[in-house]
Amino acid sequence: MLDAVELTQTLIRFNSVSSLSNIPISDCLQERLEHIGFEVEQVRYRDASGTEKASVVARKGKGNGGLALLGHSDTVPVAGWQKDPFDPIIENDKLYGRGSCDMKGSVACMLAAAESFTTENLKAPIYIVVTADEEVGCQGAREVVAHSRLFNEFDLRYGVIGEPTLMQVVRAHKGAVALRATAHGRAAHSSTGKGVNANLIMIPFLVEMKAIYDQLTWDPALFNYDFDPPFSDWNIGINDGGIALNMTAPQSVCTVYYRPMPGQDQQALMDRARQAAKRCDVELAIVKTGDPFMTPLESQIVQAAMKSVDADRAHTVPYGTDGLVFGARLELVVIGPGDIKQAHTIDEWMAIDQFDVAIRVYRDMIERFCIAA
Ligand SMILES: [Zn+2]
Repeated sequence: MLDAVELTQTLIRFNSVSSLSNIPISDCLQERLEHIGFEVEQVRYRDASGTEKASVVARKGKGNGGLALLGHSDTVPVAGWQKDPFDPIIENDKLYGRGSCDMKGSVACMLAAAESFTTENLKAPIYIVVTADEEVGCQGAREVVAHSRLFNEFDLRYGVIGEPTLMQVVRAHKGAVALRATAHGRAAHSSTGKGVNANLIMIPFLVEMKAIYDQLTWDPALFNYDFDPPFSDWNIGINDGGIALNMTAPQSVCTVYYRPMPGQDQQALMDRARQAAKRCDVELAIVKTGDPFMTPLESQIVQAAMKSVDADRAHTVPYGTDGLVFGARLELVVIGPGDIKQAHTIDEWMAIDQFDVAIRVYRDMIERFCIAA
């Protein structure tokens, strides 16, 4: 029998911080998945800096329907750790290590849950998908949707994203859109009067970005009370490169991270930002990672998940997951072991008792979608 804690420890020993290649951990996952009867495909690509990445797509069984268990193998960086982030240890019933909670532990639980099902007793397939680059824009998930043979061969409708929710059912999260505005000036000693200060070009654009922020956070017409907070994130960053006090800035950059909610007119806000950029003579690039998803309460996946954990309600969360991408294709819930409070932290851990709970719930959901189907 596959030991999920042992497999998590094995996965933690691979340093798979998003900036590095995740090929070694993907090869390990492929071997373990094949060992428990999955057909496995690696969807490989090069990221923006030329580093080779792989999303692992595995399927046991054939035909339409079934259930996808969705995870990622990359992690956030590890600055400031007291412990060795890649040498997992168990202390006080907690497993410490980078990725223990977000989300190598969860991936290990998916394998442990799927192990006992054989192709002969499956009426519909089980998928396990472990993407690259979830923490940095979900490129791995996009590659799966665009290029995976196994993922796209049959008609798959339901998915479970195993991000840490302490095994509570989450049926919605916000979307993600990144805006980057750049104003160009000319560097000079400020005393000469010969420079062009890019910050002065940027300021009127910032005023408009602040106006949008104010509206998003004060105008109830833009609120969605299914979420906490009920307003969208519109997080403004400013950067002129930290130049000397007596130099005119040659470049000034404003970034905005926007988390749209279902029902919000994203297009109107983007148009407003584009018009402001044009008026103020700043360059604007808009990169959308994905739309929000909100699976109806009556959807079979939400109802099944609530029964599996014996809950009478489903939640929403303000952060994003690979659901930004998969939500356009599948009806999703997010449900996974561990607490989101420990994700991305120094000395990240997961409570050992979460493993058995997650394995039992994932097994139960596989039975509902792949056996009873
Ligand atoms: Zn995660």
